[in-house]
Amino acid sequence: MTFDVAIVGGGPAGVAAAVALRRVGLGTVLVEASRHETPRVGETLSPGVRPALARLGLPVAGAVPEAATESAWGTPDLTTRPAVLNPYGGGAHVDRAAFDAALADRAETHGATVLRGCRVRRCEPTGARSWRLTTEHGQVTAAAVICATGRGAGLVRAVGARRQAADRLVGVAVEYADPAGDQVTLVEAARDGWWYSVSLPPAHRVVVFMTDSDLCRAGRYPDPARWADAIGGTRHLGERVRGLRPRTRPRVVSAVSHRLVRPHTVRPWLATGDAAMSVDPLTGRGVLTALLAGEAAGTAMAHWLLGDRRPAADYERGLDARYAEYLAERAEVYGRETRWPHAPFWRRRAASSLAASLTASSTP
Ligand SMILES: Cc1cc2nc3c(=O)[nH]c(=O)nc-3n(C[C@H](O)[C@H](O)[C@H](O)COP(=O)(O)OP(=O)(O)OC[C@H]3O[C@@H](n4cnc5c(N)ncnc54)[C@H](O)[C@@H]3O)c2cc1C
Repeated sequence: MTFDVAIVGGGPAGVAAAVALRRVGLGTVLVEASRHETPRVGETLSPGVRPALARLGLPVAGAVPEAATESAWGTPDLTTRPAVLNPYGGGAHVDRAAFDAALADRAETHGATVLRGCRVRRCEPTGARSWRLTTEHGQVTAAAVICATGRGAGLVRAVGARRQAADRLVGVAVEYADPAGDQVTLVEAARDGWWYSVSLPPAHRVVVFMTDSDLCRAGRYPDPARWADAIGGTRHLGERVRGLRPRTRPRVVSAVSHRLVRPHTVRPWLATGDAAMSVDPLTGRGVLTALLAGEAAGTAMAHWLLGDRRPAADYERGLDARYAEYLAERAEVYGRETRWPHAPFWRRRAASSLAASLTASSTP
């Protein structure tokens, strides 16, 4: 199979890139390892997601409006921010696997070829101008590649790129059966990190503990008995899950913030979404950032194939600028929690907050 552009990864970024490429009539294949059959994290859509999806002609499948955000951050007491007070309207909660599956279906409607259950094992240059992808089910060749493989940034070594990580954040996630559902996002800081919980359609709740990978191991958070014990030590979250039955065992997912560092390439190749730049789930903007970056990468790649590389260079500079802004914002938000100044999780973030303010004050 031969295409103009092969996109590896059928999450929000890959789908947005596919739609942008199809709009200018380029032959596009979206190669996705999964069939979107297993649970995925990243279930709160920020208010900006709806207009971004509408612009791309993509659906918001099965979204339940978010009623409010409650947080115990910097203080043991809960602060409530009702969604109606947000000038952009409220966010929404979705079942991410179902949401992502619906996006990939719509990429097909836009004319992209979608290969599901098809992991790309290798990506390498072939001939004078093409790329060859070796998948579980055969080979695909294309003039250009967009790598949208998510936070793990799989396959970026094909062009000698590497991740520059800003932390070691992981999430430990457990789903509970929760027929009542409250449509509230709860965030609660703790000594080793912070918790969040959201109720999701149709009748479950996801609870995630965010911590650093070494603290996760030392604290044995993925152990079900230890997990229950840690929830028992919270002030607000424990009340929210009292009496609920876990549907899954604790599983650990990477939540590292990184920016991809890549060398100059002659053959058209771009990374997008979390593969190019990933942000802390605390921002609640990962999906929006991925959609915007995916669309921009698709547009830049279309120009590159016509012989104009400038939009691709602008795209990379745009990501650099957004990542610098994000690091400053992250430092400011973590700096608001001062209750555990000697605990490693918070001490590390206070140090990066200090570094960010020194960088800002020394920038002319
Ligand atoms: C704990 C946690 C909580 C989060 N909460 C939120 C939230 O509430 N709101 C929010 O907006 N964001 C949240 N995020 C972030 C959000 O999930 C991501 O930013 C977003 O999914 C990025 O989209 P993407 O398309 O770049 O990558 P992904 O969604 O990760 O998609 C990448 C796709 O590539 C596929 N793939 C990978 N390797 C290959 C391969 N070799 N071959 C073929 N396919 C491959 C994967 O199967 C996957 O479908 C959270 C993240 C974490 C870790």
